[in-house]
Amino acid sequence: MGQYRLDRVCIFQSGNAPIRDQVGRFQFTQNGESIFEVEPIGALEQDPDRTTQHLATAFRCCQRAWVLRRVWPAMLPDEELTQRVDVILRHLKCLVARVDRLENGISMYVSTDPPRVLYVDSLTSHERLLASVHELTHAALHPPGSDDYDEDEYHHHEEPSAHVAAARICAHFGVLDYTDVMRKRGVSEHHLGPQNDTMAEMMFQRVTAALSRPHLQPEWVQPRGPQAV
Ligand SMILES: [Zn+2]
Repeated sequence: MGQYRLDRVCIFQSGNAPIRDQVGRFQFTQNGESIFEVEPIGALEQDPDRTTQHLATAFRCCQRAWVLRRVWPAMLPDEELTQRVDVILRHLKCLVARVDRLENGISMYVSTDPPRVLYVDSLTSHERLLASVHELTHAALHPPGSDDYDEDEYHHHEEPSAHVAAARICAHFGVLDYTDVMRKRGVSEHHLGPQNDTMAEMMFQRVTAALSRPHLQPEWVQPRGPQAV
């Protein structure tokens, strides 16, 4: 039919309607097409090539949009959370590397600028996802370039808070086995303990906010302008 411009992002508000009710409603939501949740960049406009009057109020279009997530076909929680985490790691300009072994645990965050995240090579992609969420909780507390690491504080307070926060963050996005997986990977009960304090709460709030709007630079990352001399 050709009335929709292919050089535009077609946008409609689905409200609370189940997304499957939208499949087939428009030419751009036929079976076999993917539907994404997006945030428009710039003004919304009427489709300039529109020929179907009754659809006039049903959708708008814009030149470009941020893709937040695919909603049809639905993504598995793992797939969706992995995509969000990867975008946040890119905001952090994080250098990611795999190593044979680490002295403590299965992954590690270093708050250099740019920061580094290390994983042991033997992790499955699911374990790596959980480890990434864990390391993001440390990053939310020690943004790139911070020099405030305190080993005693880390072992007694920060690490248990990071595990509790990471389990809550994963669950928030539908990934429910964080604590079980970490226990199987040898994390001590002391570190997995029921510590849900203000530090864990802050980590949870910061990382969940970043992962909920992954197209934006997380608020807790300082913009890196030219260095003052
Ligand atoms: Zn940790």
